[in-house]
Amino acid sequence: MAKFFEYQGKAFLKKAGIPIPEGEPAKTSEEAKQIAEKLGRPVVVKAQVWAGGRGKSGAVKFADTPEETAQVAGEILGMEVKGLEVKEVLVEEKLDIAQEFYAGIIINSAKDVRGPVLMFSPEGGMDIESVPEDKLAVMNVDVLRGVLPFDTLNMVRSMGIEGNALRQVAGIVHKLYGVFRSNDCRTVEINPLVLTKQGKAVAADCRFQVDDQALFRHRDFGIKVGREFVKEPTEFDLIAWKFEEADFRGTSYCAEMNPPEELVKGGCVGYHGIGGGAAILGVDALNKVDLKVADYADTSGNPTASKVYRVAKIILSQPGIEGYFLAGFMMANQEQWHHAHGLVKALREELPKKPGFPVVLLLCGNKEKESQEILKEGLAGMNARIEIYDREHVYNAKHLATRFRALVDEYRAEQGK
Ligand code: GDP
Ligand code: MN
Repeated sequence: MAKFFEYQGKAFLKKAGIPIPEGEPAKTSEEAKQIAEKLGRPVVVKAQVWAGGRGKSGAVKFADTPEETAQVAGEILGMEVKGLEVKEVLVEEKLDIAQEFYAGIIINSAKDVRGPVLMFSPEGGMDIESVPEDKLAVMNVDVLRGVLPFDTLNMVRSMGIEGNALRQVAGIVHKLYGVFRSNDCRTVEINPLVLTKQGKAVAADCRFQVDDQALFRHRDFGIKVGREFVKEPTEFDLIAWKFEEADFRGTSYCAEMNPPEELVKGGCVGYHGIGGGAAILGVDALNKVDLKVADYADTSGNPTASKVYRVAKIILSQPGIEGYFLAGFMMANQEQWHHAHGLVKALREELPKKPGFPVVLLLCGNKEKESQEILKEGLAGMNARIEIYDREHVYNAKHLATRFRALVDEYRAEQGK
């Protein structure tokens, strides 16, 4: 899922007419101080990371003066929140909170819902999962009908909110659905939605996540890879994302694990898994025979031959790799002949450039017999060390890794390494 930081999410809220606190992001304590000077009043300094519960982790702090702002920003910048390093903070005017609400929309993919669920609770600020059922108003939204102003008025009123707060809060919840729809969100949440002592409703936090498969409609978001990438994507990652971004026929996940400079030193192999859990199992098996994976790749969900081909091609393009391992450690119910066709085409194009190259292929499941024939016929007579395995070895990761290691050793010896 494409995630955004709080301050980025808040910008979407503001555009839709939802009030947010005044403030700006900062990357250094000096910048934080300048923002506090500009605001000229007490501020709240908040870590910008893709994690909730910052309040409890000490990643939300208050400051009364610009000097104090610089100090707390310095404390928060560089700290780790749920394994994520804080590289940016948001410096905002501190709100005088009278009451905290929750407003949010998520996608419920359960069979009987399959659509957006709008939620409102008068008990904001805490984890929405821990709010008692009678304190949560829920509406399963019919996307064709949408959400009408009286829907949110009824929802918010049913939770005991009245008067001036009712109109403001219901209006914000209504606008929030507009934000969700127009940006193809999977999640958008305001927690807390604050009512200040001055009687104004303001979005004090924002979680905003966009459906990866809708990113092609939102080029202006500037998201390079529609995945939860914690690092800056490399050239390899960017090319691999192209296979996915506008082709939803099956999935391919590809990520660089070791940069090209590392690979050319030796000891790394091209890695191609099928299905998440099975793919991890293959990586473990290779690590146990002291082989490192150059990349992590996984093709699944009945991908087309062309998608498998492109993944195999990018794996084989990595400089210095000493083998190619297809880890089909599952009796997949997808039609495996698409894998077989894609692999044969990629290997026939690439193997002539790498005489004696080690290749171990495990492929089984639906259309296995046909797939095995395609692989064996298609790769016959290639000048490479190819071993092809079927369901007989689906539980035998150790054997396959050991065989692969032996082929890699032969290949290395031949190369004089
Ligand atoms: P989260 O814990 O990561 O969800 O971070 P939040 O942005 O929700 O902040 C956590 C808590 O800090 C909120 O529930 C508030 O109680 C408090 N907080 C955040 N902003 C302000 C503010 O401007 N004024 C006050 N008084 N409290 C705030
Ligand atoms: Mn929050």
